[in-house]
Amino acid sequence: MYIQRPKGTQDLLPIDSVKRQHIEDKLRKIASLFNYKEIRTPTFEKTELFRRSIGEETDVVSKEMYSFKDDEFTLKPEMTAPVIRAYIENGLQNESPFQKLYYIANMYRHERPQAGRYREFSQFGVEAIGSNDYLVDAELISLGAKMLNEFGIGNIVFKINTIGTTEERARFLVDLKKYLNQYENKLSQDSLIRLQTNPLRILDSKTDYEIEILKNSPVLYDYLNPETKSHFDNVLNALSILEIKYEIDYRLVRGFDYYTSTTFEVLSDDLGAQNAIFGGGRYDNLVEQLGGKPAPAIGFACGLERLSMILEKNNYKFPVGEKVEYYFVTMGADAKLFSLKLMEDLRNKGIKCETDFLNRSVKSQMKEANKIDAKYVIVIGENEMKEEKFKIKNMSDSMEKIVDYADFTDYAEKNSKGK
Ligand code: AMP
Repeated sequence: MYIQRPKGTQDLLPIDSVKRQHIEDKLRKIASLFNYKEIRTPTFEKTELFRRSIGEETDVVSKEMYSFKDDEFTLKPEMTAPVIRAYIENGLQNESPFQKLYYIANMYRHERPQAGRYREFSQFGVEAIGSNDYLVDAELISLGAKMLNEFGIGNIVFKINTIGTTEERARFLVDLKKYLNQYENKLSQDSLIRLQTNPLRILDSKTDYEIEILKNSPVLYDYLNPETKSHFDNVLNALSILEIKYEIDYRLVRGFDYYTSTTFEVLSDDLGAQNAIFGGGRYDNLVEQLGGKPAPAIGFACGLERLSMILEKNNYKFPVGEKVEYYFVTMGADAKLFSLKLMEDLRNKGIKCETDFLNRSVKSQMKEANKIDAKYVIVIGENEMKEEKFKIKNMSDSMEKIVDYADFTDYAEKNSKGK
């Protein structure tokens, strides 16, 4: 019995990798267009980092972390806390009071695997740290919109809300708890636990009868101060000017405790049950909470597996990988060695080439050249080596051209550049 990969993980085979690489290249370009700079952090962090930032009572921290060495370290389940840890630790704040950072990295959560939900998954994310200007929210959201546009993703709903400051939320939660306590015998087991530990998350319930109960519950927005409301109004106004369509959802809450003020999520019908493509929001207290000088911030993260799923579903035209330009069909040991040297010369000119390493017959080598869709084939045998000339066969029209060994690399280079 062979050993299989762990549940909830994926193998990206070469055919998948070219697609993923294309997605990543595009995301990097978009991030750079908005002047976001890449940051990379370790795969694991001190467990305490996630406890303190994401929150003890969240699903991620209480149930889903891959921790080891007596709970000292944890494979990162998300990237905002590590980015902020690195930002503080490396004094980025002193370098420039406003930082725009992006990442593409793998995350680990011990969730129940299903379509679009994995235990190891990849996220592209952006974090803008150091300003509470509503323009930052709007620009960051427009980066998300640009991303959808660039990939031709249209069938989405962009939901936005404001969840206020910790104080505003605390006032609201007192009333929410009071309200929900009346329905104690109707709430699910999960919600009853959350009522004690993390009542805000109940707003996120997907159960019909709980949604019904929540219809008459207190609304967080009514507990917000004019300042918070005006920040939100300004964000919405900027989104209208940028012609970004949104839906306000006063019940939208997110899974981590560090969020404040603006929160948002982008959902797609093409995804099934796990329908969020990306989500994020402000986390104005996190830097301070993790020991830095206070710095308001905002970010979002997008799941690359989900992005890929949508693109596959929409028959997105991925570019094909670069073709092999020259395939060397060889006859005999000397020809093989001679070809190896020719390939070295071509590669030094940046030209992609390949040959046979399985001692196959000439016929099978030709078949292989066809199979991998090589542009040109060169057959090398004793004659070719003796005469120092060889035939280059163009595989698309079967035209042949004889070239001298001495001129070959220059010819190949010119020919390649001419395309
Ligand atoms: P979060 O970090 O939970 O705010 O999630 C941000 C985005 O990451 C989601 O919108 C998804 O696209 C993606 N994501 C989160 N959890 C998973 C998972 N278990 N598997 C795949 N993608 C995920």
